[in-house]
Amino acid sequence: MEHGTADPRRRVPRTDEVLNDPRLIAAAGRLGRAPVKAAVIAAQQLARAGDLDPAAVADTALATLPATPGGLLPVLNATGTVLHTNLGRAALSAAAIEAVTAASGHTDVELDLATGRRARRGRATLTALAAAVPAAGAVHVVNNGAAALVLAATALAAGREIIVSRGEMVEIGDGFRLPDLLESTGARLREVGATNRTSAADYAAAVGPATGFILKVHPSNFVMRGFTSAAGIGELTGLGVPVVADIGSGLLAPDPLLPDEPDAAGALRAGAALVVASGDKLLGGPQAGLLLGEAALIERLRRHPLARALRVGKLTLAALHATLEGPATPTRRALHADPDVLRDRTTRLCERVAAAGVDATVTPSAAVVGGGGAPGLELPSWALSLPERYAAALRTGRPPVAGRVEKGRLLLDLRCVPAVADDTVHAAILAASSAAGG
Ligand SMILES: *Cc1c(COP(=O)(O)O)cnc(C)c1O
Repeated sequence: MEHGTADPRRRVPRTDEVLNDPRLIAAAGRLGRAPVKAAVIAAQQLARAGDLDPAAVADTALATLPATPGGLLPVLNATGTVLHTNLGRAALSAAAIEAVTAASGHTDVELDLATGRRARRGRATLTALAAAVPAAGAVHVVNNGAAALVLAATALAAGREIIVSRGEMVEIGDGFRLPDLLESTGARLREVGATNRTSAADYAAAVGPATGFILKVHPSNFVMRGFTSAAGIGELTGLGVPVVADIGSGLLAPDPLLPDEPDAAGALRAGAALVVASGDKLLGGPQAGLLLGEAALIERLRRHPLARALRVGKLTLAALHATLEGPATPTRRALHADPDVLRDRTTRLCERVAAAGVDATVTPSAAVVGGGGAPGLELPSWALSLPERYAAALRTGRPPVAGRVEKGRLLLDLRCVPAVADDTVHAAILAASSAAGG
């Protein structure tokens, strides 16, 4: 190099100079000035340390900019876990994405355009939800399943008792436990039964003047086997107090693929006064908490002051509506994906990367539903098997590809990767191959 002996720090271009590059000006117009400036400063530091040609500062800053604004990187989910909590659970359908975009400006979320008067917020979405579950007298939507439980506990049992089985005092993840959540509302928990067995008589013996409601919680992230029994909703409806069913998953109607997952319609038909569920689990929609049940109870929840603090935004209402009425969600398509088609896609991908010298094989894989429901259920699937060192390179590549490591190999299961993204996965593996050293 011509100036090889000169101090490289002298030749590193100034921040303002680099920021004047037309490509970076355009990027700042799209992403904002802060991330562009941060990328430039990071590239300058590399150049000062002698790890980057000072002439390449602008190029490097450009290459390290996020592809999208928003601070969240889109990730290709090749883990084989359909509802991966750390990857944001359900992926929205194209219809839901279009609905979110359409609702992102000013919308008629609370205005009746025909009369020019204020209208019930999100009425079209609530109508769609009610239509999807005719067994519900009325419906309401809040921010997530936990918020739905908090609203029910506050409005129906603050200062009173919630009767719950010791086998259903569950932790939902990241250290959050339903009993703590419920007690935070001022309701008292009246625990009944044993961890493995609770009978209808246990509930009946606990019912009294202080009872707010009986809570049935679906164990959505664990399975209990052996000497177990639990009382069904139908056995608890004659006790003179409402039964609230937290079904977790958000299945509105039964899915034959998931025989052990409760659904909202079934719980209501069994006699639950109120059903609580998540919007971004098996329903495949946005993060939301669904409340379905007796009209009088729903009206009490809707009118409670806390409801205002838990209300959903217009983007959620739009995405939920499109999820309820639109075509099959990515969640549903991933759950019902044909294993033979998955094997064909995986085999083609394997042939392509093997031809480029990558140590790859095709192997059977057991996909799972994930934190959103159906614990213990395995979905027969296929995976591309790569050396373990590809895991970090693929995870930190652009776009990131998340797989799972099993027995010293990285497995990429295409069940939750849209087929149109197979070329992207192919390119990511080749890029990772250079990064991971072949
Ligand atoms: C997931 C889950 C919750 C919490 O719902 P969020 O939407 O995550 O707030 C509550 N109860 C059960 C049974 C669940 O599975």
